[in-house]
Amino acid sequence: MKRVIPLLVFLAASFAAMAQNWQGKFEQLGTTLPTPNEYRTASGAPGQAYWQQQADYVIAVTLDDDKHAISGTETITYTNNSPDPLSYLWIQLDQNMRAKDSNSPKVSGNSIKTNEMSAKSFHRIAGVENYDGGFKIASITDANGNPLPYIINKTMMRVDIPVTMKTGDKYSFSIAWSYNVNDRMELGGRSGYEFFPKDGNALYTIAQFYPRMAVYNDVNGWQHKQFLGRGEFTLTFGNYDVSITVPADHVVGATGSLQNPKDVLTKDQNKRFEEAKTSYDKPVIIVTQEEAIKREQKPSSKTSTWHYKATQVRDFAFASSRKFIWDAQAVKIGDKTPLAMSYYPKEGNPLWEQESTKAVVYTILGYSKRTIDYPYPVAISVHSASIGMEYPMICFNFGRPADDGTYSDRTKWGMIGVIVHEVGHNFFPMIINSDERQWTWMDEGLNTFVQSLTQREYYPEMPARRGTAASIVNYMKGNPDYIRPIMTNSEQVVQFGNNAYAKPAAALNILRETVMGPELFDYAFKEYAQRWAFKHPEPADFFRTMEDASAVDLDWFWNGWFYTTDYVDIEVSNVKWFKVAADAKSFENKTATGKIDNKNVDEEGNNIDFTGGYEQILLTDTKSNQYREFRNTVDDNAIRQSNANRNLYEITFKIKEAW
Ligand SMILES: [Zn+2]
Repeated sequence: MKRVIPLLVFLAASFAAMAQNWQGKFEQLGTTLPTPNEYRTASGAPGQAYWQQQADYVIAVTLDDDKHAISGTETITYTNNSPDPLSYLWIQLDQNMRAKDSNSPKVSGNSIKTNEMSAKSFHRIAGVENYDGGFKIASITDANGNPLPYIINKTMMRVDIPVTMKTGDKYSFSIAWSYNVNDRMELGGRSGYEFFPKDGNALYTIAQFYPRMAVYNDVNGWQHKQFLGRGEFTLTFGNYDVSITVPADHVVGATGSLQNPKDVLTKDQNKRFEEAKTSYDKPVIIVTQEEAIKREQKPSSKTSTWHYKATQVRDFAFASSRKFIWDAQAVKIGDKTPLAMSYYPKEGNPLWEQESTKAVVYTILGYSKRTIDYPYPVAISVHSASIGMEYPMICFNFGRPADDGTYSDRTKWGMIGVIVHEVGHNFFPMIINSDERQWTWMDEGLNTFVQSLTQREYYPEMPARRGTAASIVNYMKGNPDYIRPIMTNSEQVVQFGNNAYAKPAAALNILRETVMGPELFDYAFKEYAQRWAFKHPEPADFFRTMEDASAVDLDWFWNGWFYTTDYVDIEVSNVKWFKVAADAKSFENKTATGKIDNKNVDEEGNNIDFTGGYEQILLTDTKSNQYREFRNTVDDNAIRQSNANRNLYEITFKIKEAW
């Protein structure tokens, strides 16, 4: 792209700013970044010996709607692709965050307000005491049914296997477990159930519901930093075969492809499901509101089993309720036609029927352009009061109209924003599978950034919330006691939303639009996504790829924006306007055409405006000694004439306040 430079501009840095002590802010990152190796190269790409583990799951779970409980069995087949021998395996027991001995309450701050504390707020704190949460492990056995020794340390469980796994070995073992599903209204949570007292039914959004393999990698060995509730998940890719047994009148949405629609849907619903697969312009309603209301009124006592398969996903989640309305629309992306789908109760309408699936379609289209083509068969948005939470192919999103079906712009934009964000998480971190327990910004920051671009493209009238430069000013200039660098572990981040979502998104927007330009940025960003799709990137892989694919030295940028809490506040303290005199006479007769003396200036001599006109630059004849050894000379008059009438500006910047 050609760039037109309309003005000639000189930049004059203030002497005071130049004179400050050296602080190393523009040096190469050097040893701040990890030393490249055969697993992760200096270019930011996976190295020749890059490896990652594989964890395949066969799971059967049953949802007990009366007791609000889950029980299940799973067989995990773990493949050791590492060069290292492994004699034990670490499993994540995330539900233990709600167990009696959990560390989570110890790290969450609360205060008692004697006069103005609602019963609900109090119960959130005190109710935890009485809640029987956490996984109950019934058995852990090898492939022959022999029990395996294990030890549980809060949310992590070590299974001691009787063999040492060498490179390429596979090991299969089985776990049987159960747990009580939390009422999100009382206890909060990323998953759980919401009870609707008017019709007596629950809506389940179920995740972290099975023991999951921890990640073993070249960076951390086992990543088994405890789950406290905030730092999210670090997960291994694998293939899933999951059978979900629920009340027969429930409708289930889940990660993966439904294997047995004929067993669980009516004939009409099956027909509509098939229709949706070729409906590219609008959603087809597979389960109608009428059908959902009928189910709500007469719960079934039978059960049915929904069977799902998912390939190369890092996790599995599902939603289940007899309240669900279900719609779906096909989307063309590359050579694939994934289904964008929504599940919502009547309480979500009319908003959900109008907006949810449309937002899913726009999100996977928008993100695919900037990263990789959406590779999964479905992308699902589930109505879930008061939260936004993401899993592969499925996410849980807020946005509920008032009882009479009316809603404000704020509710509508909030709902569309959370859907774009959570569906966007399919790319970061579900596919570009970063370590969320360690680095929140690598999923939330990158995702919020692409979210902001997607919303600008598909919803130009939607108010921008995060990602703009203006929106981050108050945070960045705020009290430094409450600010941490973006490169801070998830549990130690202060001001979570600003640190891990808004600041990286603003930084990347500035990097794209001001520092690199969209052409260089977009190519490098897409390169990062393509290099690390279905792999486990680390921060340095991102920083290095952005430089490697653009030839823009960004070490100073990563240093300032990601490794420090620095900021600058630059003042434009003076602008001078000049023109070059057309001939040398002006120089000889300076008073006739020379400097203008009625400048409109402030006490410090800075121009207040341009009403005083321009200052004239008088170009002298070049002296013969300036030619040094060259035989040819320049034409002084030609230089004067070709520059006459050009406007030149000298701009003086001053750093008002910095770091
Ligand atoms: Zn998020």
